[in-house]
Amino acid sequence: MEQNDFLPFSKPTISDAAIQEVVDCLKSGWITTGPRVQKLEDMLKAYLHSPHALTLTTATAGLHLSLLGCHFNPGDEVIVPAMTFVASLNTIVQAGAKPVVVDINPKTYNIDIDLIEKNITPNTKAIMPVHFAGLSVDLDAIYSLAKKHQLRVIEDAAQAIGTKYKNQLIGSFGDTQIFSFHPNKNITTGEGGCVTTRDEKLAKYISCMRFHGIDRNAFNRFSKQGSQHYDVIEAGYKYNMLDMQAALGIHQLPELEKFNAKRKQLAQRYHELLSGWEEWILPVDPNHPDSDGHAWHLYTPLLNLDVTQKKGITRDVFMDKMKLEHNIGIGLHYDPPYLYDFYKKKYGFKKGDFQHADFVSERIMSLPLFPLMTEQNQDRVIHAMKIIFGRK
Ligand SMILES: *Cc1c(COP(=O)(O)O)cnc(C)c1O
Repeated sequence: MEQNDFLPFSKPTISDAAIQEVVDCLKSGWITTGPRVQKLEDMLKAYLHSPHALTLTTATAGLHLSLLGCHFNPGDEVIVPAMTFVASLNTIVQAGAKPVVVDINPKTYNIDIDLIEKNITPNTKAIMPVHFAGLSVDLDAIYSLAKKHQLRVIEDAAQAIGTKYKNQLIGSFGDTQIFSFHPNKNITTGEGGCVTTRDEKLAKYISCMRFHGIDRNAFNRFSKQGSQHYDVIEAGYKYNMLDMQAALGIHQLPELEKFNAKRKQLAQRYHELLSGWEEWILPVDPNHPDSDGHAWHLYTPLLNLDVTQKKGITRDVFMDKMKLEHNIGIGLHYDPPYLYDFYKKKYGFKKGDFQHADFVSERIMSLPLFPLMTEQNQDRVIHAMKIIFGRK
């Protein structure tokens, strides 16, 4: 990358072996769901120590089917944090439940555990924690609440492939987890996602619903004829991952830990380089033992508006300057999903409802962070900040 080329906030690392695998897949005559998807699912089960790993077109599809598998009745509620991608909320609505939004902890940006119980009602059926930026939610607390109130836990682990909680990989224990393989995520299949679950019934349901609701076993129970016949047990979806996508995945997964180690190194360096700047409120310390299992999907400082606004710099001004004057892409994760038009109108959410999420979402941004990023690239980001803030 030339010094002044556009520096994106994220970029996938695709090896020559992965590219060759896609070419081989294309030449093999079998490009949709087949042996490469099977192989990727076997690899995911082994890596995540999960009895089931079901690949899908996207993590959103995984959230949708996992929630549908909860079989909600009208009026049922799902608890979800205020800082997340809108897909978390959308899929709750699509599955026929009501998203009950809970404020975040302003330090971790994860759901505020202390607020969950206050939001549990007789209609609550599930909690959807989100491992924001790749930092695990306090799952002991979540699962003990879930046990006490008999709730499902559908973990939105879209940002958390490789994340550990108390030394255990997310996906290797608990109820159900959904991972994303979108190009910005820590590993990619172009688009793609995966559900891990320890619920045999849910695994069967997803396996059937991701392909038109077709259940070959159901038909075989009534028929001794060959496999050309099948039964459809519900109006299902078309969410199956392609072998073309899995071809990338089977080369990405073995590189995940290396990718995440590089992300952590870059996060540590950001932390070092930005410590003591009055313009920033930094995210959790990458050197602190509490962040040992962090997958560093994102590096998300908050702009200290009390300082920067005096210089006329809001978060949006800062992002524009980085892009237009310095050719550096900065991500925004996220504008508060509860303030989108649909959610404001349907549920009456307004600014002020979730104090910490309001505060964080007005200030947060995602700095460039990806395994191929060099220290030189990172120095360029810091240099651009110095110019924008008028620092020496
Ligand atoms: C990326 C992401 C999703 C959606 O993932 P897709 O694979 O793009 O569908 C859902 N939730 C969170 C928190 C995400 O970061």
